[in-house]
Amino acid sequence: MLVQHLRVSPRVAHIPFRTCLGCRDKKDKAGLIRMVLDPSGSRRVLADGPARLPGRGGYICPSPQCYDRAVKRKAFHRAWKQTVIIPSWDEIINSTRP
Ligand SMILES: [Zn+2]
Repeated sequence: MLVQHLRVSPRVAHIPFRTCLGCRDKKDKAGLIRMVLDPSGSRRVLADGPARLPGRGGYICPSPQCYDRAVKRKAFHRAWKQTVIIPSWDEIINSTRP
């Protein structure tokens, strides 16, 4: 599924809300960590700070509680419809740091 980035009319405020994999709250994607599958095909999930990696993204609050919930609910595997390798919370946080 390819979503084209069209110019948004300035009259319509378009806020891209995404659902957190942990708490299922819908939030402004700017406040969530984007996660993508490793484009090289390793099945590892990678945290993508500035939203640069290609591929289907999943989103999670920058909170270890949401991470724990997402892991327990197997939300990562469901998000990508396969068994994926989930990074530790430390790895996620470290890779989103500038
Ligand atoms: Zn959350």
